[in-house]
Amino acid sequence: MTKPTDRNATTSFIKKTLGTDSIEPTLTPLPTHSNTTFEKKPRLSPSKSRKREIPEGLWNKCPQCETLLYDKEIDLNLKVCHLCQHHFAIGARERINFLVETCSFTEMDANLVSLDPLNFPAYADKLARDQKSGTSKDAVVTGIGKIGLHKVALGVMDFSFLGGSMGSVVGEKLTRLIEAGTEKKLPVIIVSTSGGARMYEGMFSLMQMAKTCGALAYHAKNRLPFISVLTDPTFAGVMASFATVGDLILAEPAARIGFAGARVIKDTTQSELPPGFQTSEFLLEHGLIDAIVARKDMKSALEFYLDFLMTGHQKASSHSK
Ligand SMILES: [Zn+2]
Repeated sequence: MTKPTDRNATTSFIKKTLGTDSIEPTLTPLPTHSNTTFEKKPRLSPSKSRKREIPEGLWNKCPQCETLLYDKEIDLNLKVCHLCQHHFAIGARERINFLVETCSFTEMDANLVSLDPLNFPAYADKLARDQKSGTSKDAVVTGIGKIGLHKVALGVMDFSFLGGSMGSVVGEKLTRLIEAGTEKKLPVIIVSTSGGARMYEGMFSLMQMAKTCGALAYHAKNRLPFISVLTDPTFAGVMASFATVGDLILAEPAARIGFAGARVIKDTTQSELPPGFQTSEFLLEHGLIDAIVARKDMKSALEFYLDFLMTGHQKASSHSK
């Protein structure tokens, strides 16, 4: 250990060089009370943190305007923030409820469930988890309902079920819906929200892209309209198949829509992406979608478009007879 006399010698040498009296000694003195400073700091227990004071499931923070919103208030406004119009995610059944006329919806293939063809690790558990926590057995609800005066074949995807991914069941349910629409001469409406093809089913998922588009091609051959509604987020395999082949493509405001994610595109092209890239507004400006429709206006907009599209269909049918 350094003697006090040595320390003074060092200090006086530096004093001379720098011309200051307040210089610190170059050797750090040993702490006289070791291991006490940090141990005595009071720590907040989790139960005292502010977050816990807000009861869970009652309030939701709007990610856009950061206002705390009462859950019931959001529900009453079709899961849209009344201050900034941010559209929150909404379940398939809730969406169907506000799109179709009361009690007019008959569900199809409600009990169709996915197998685990590749024995993919944890897939069966994830399926069971989402089937238990959600209200349907896979990521899409399909059926025949009425919008305004029109009977429609309606499919609505649900992002809360495995990210709305398209596996065999989603593809099969949509294909059966489209085929039912063709058979009954009904327009088809599909509301999409999806992260893409379901990787747990590998190629079986990719095959759904061709299958759904094949059914839609046959539906179109029968001069029947298909309206595709894109909601936040719609990506990858779904965007690369049925979601972009609509006679009319609508989207909710500020929905993220694209094929590959922005980061992947940026890394691949090594270029800066324009502002607002992969949003509804950007895609409307560049011609991929036909209109942006707010959730509260979606039902009336669909009624309006169906009036127009089905009138054309009826005229075409009568001409071909
Ligand atoms: Zn908001």
